[in-house]
Amino acid sequence: MRIPPWLRIKLPSNENFANTAELIGDLHLNTVCQSAKCPNKWECFSKNVATFLVMGAICTRNCAFCNIASGDMEPLDPTEPARVAEAARRLKLRHVVITSVTRDDLEDGGSAHFAACIRAVREVLPDCTVEVLIPDFQGSEPALKTVLDAGPNVLNHNLETVPVLYDHIRPQADYRQSLAVLENAKRLRPDIPTKSGIMVGLGETDEQIMTVLDDLAAIDCDIVTIGQYMQPSRQHPMVRRYVEPEVFEMYAEEGKKRGIRHMFSAPLVRSSYNAADFV
Ligand code: SF4
Ligand code: SF4
Repeated sequence: MRIPPWLRIKLPSNENFANTAELIGDLHLNTVCQSAKCPNKWECFSKNVATFLVMGAICTRNCAFCNIASGDMEPLDPTEPARVAEAARRLKLRHVVITSVTRDDLEDGGSAHFAACIRAVREVLPDCTVEVLIPDFQGSEPALKTVLDAGPNVLNHNLETVPVLYDHIRPQADYRQSLAVLENAKRLRPDIPTKSGIMVGLGETDEQIMTVLDDLAAIDCDIVTIGQYMQPSRQHPMVRRYVEPEVFEMYAEEGKKRGIRHMFSAPLVRSSYNAADFV
């Protein structure tokens, strides 16, 4: 399938791009922008924006759509939270987004490491807001609570796709468990906005997307992102359809009708795209 014109990305030529990439390299950090081959990397790096990927560049899971490698895990690096905070300081970020690979090998799923990252950023940049995009912690409420107790400004957990595609696209995850993560976060800390997102173009129908919006509205999810899936390589699932921009607008309207406060739905929307605008 040919890439439609609305997904052709203009590459801004801006010296910030190289500076951002160099700074991340100097601090030995990973970003989801690079690891997941995000199509917005040129735009975001040129604006000194990046999303940090903590706890390594290897994941214990193997989601079909994801470009992050699966394999042998490395121990956590206790210096990483301070390096994330230092990168945020040097990039002059006003909103930091931190995500991770899934660490099913760790007893707490890496939740204490997330909490340490939030606290490290707060210490260095007290006025900065922090958004965490967490894994499901295999449904562990104590792990979720550990992250919430560190007081992130936004708690994000992506559903990624519609339930019928989980076996193929997200085989080690469970749709209901992921919904429960968001529901439990809202129950434990109603003051912290919850956020989730899906990709489209993996074989789902619009009707199935509406059901996901129903489910997210029912658990009072505050922010929802919807973007086009793009195949990172030929080894990944093919794009089954390119959704037109007007259809993304329809998804946003449908989400708002259901009571979701912030709907961000467009072909190039990603979970952390322009995340600072929504806090
Ligand atoms: Fe990185 Fe998010 Fe921007 Fe993509 S949208 S480049 S993941 S900050
Ligand atoms: Fe990628 Fe997250 Fe799946 Fe790991 S759990 S393979 S990082 S999408």
